[in-house]
Order: sequence, then C-alpha cells, then structure tokens
Amino acid sequence: MSFSGGCQCGAVRYEIASARLVGYACHCRECQKQSASAFGTSVPVRKEDFVITGETQIWSRQSDSGGVTDCHFCPKCGSRVFHSAREGRDWITVKGGSLDDPCAIELLAHIWVKRRMGWVTLPDDVQQWDTQPESREEWHDLLEWDV
Ligand SMILES: [Zn+2]
Ligand SMILES: [Zn+2]
Repeated sequence: MSFSGGCQCGAVRYEIASARLVGYACHCRECQKQSASAFGTSVPVRKEDFVITGETQIWSRQSDSGGVTDCHFCPKCGSRVFHSAREGRDWITVKGGSLDDPCAIELLAHIWVKRRMGWVTLPDDVQQWDTQPESREEWHDLLEWDV
C-alpha cells in the first residue's frame, strides 16, 4: 500500500510505501512557527519507504535532543515537506498536511501539550505528553513501532 503527497505548488512530490500512517501532533513553539499555525503534524516514515521527486532546499536548526534537524522545503512555494535528523536515524518525519489525504493519518499522540494554544481542545482518547518522549523506546511505544 502507498500514500502520496507533495508541496503546495506541486514541484515536489513523494510516495510512501507503508501499510499505515501513524503520526503525532506537536504543539511546541518550533512547530507553531514552522506551520505558522497552532501545531505541526509529523508522520515518521522509514527512509527506505520514502521516494521523493523534485528539488528541495534545506534549512537547519538545533533539535531539543542536541542534534541538528534538516528541514526540507520546496524552494518555489516554501512548503515544508519533511524533516530529517542529520546524524544516522533510519527514519524521517513527513509533515502531515503535505499528504494528498491527510485524513489517512492515525494520530496517536499530542506532544508539547504544555505549549498548546488555549483554544485547541484535545480528545481524551489520544496520548498526551507535557513535553516529548525521551528515549528511543518511548518513541517506539508512542508510534506503535516494533523496531
Ligand atoms: Zn512547491
Ligand atoms: Zn514541535
């Protein structure tokens, strides 16, 4: 099964080979700035399952864990498409709103809830984190990954 998406103007397109798309919403200030909205949605995808066409440019920032996050965007329309950690992770995070069908995302958690805008109401049946998972194990639990 696969899912498709791309930037706002269509110059950048991608395909994700996966049976399901799981994701989380992040309410941190970086995601609010990045999305220019209330929160960001991130969909972790294994690199080997992700095929992209079209040129992206990179803007980089320090991540909370002390590494560097490369933020890939379309140079024509400016849409942020995906993020990758500079040092050796085998997965990237696709920005959820860039999917052709963003409703396909199974949203499993809200993180950085302590930065949530007061008018955003969260459902009770989804995990909520004041900040974010610390360990790889916690991330994998959150994402229902068995790696
Ligand atoms: Zn574009
Ligand atoms: Zn965030």
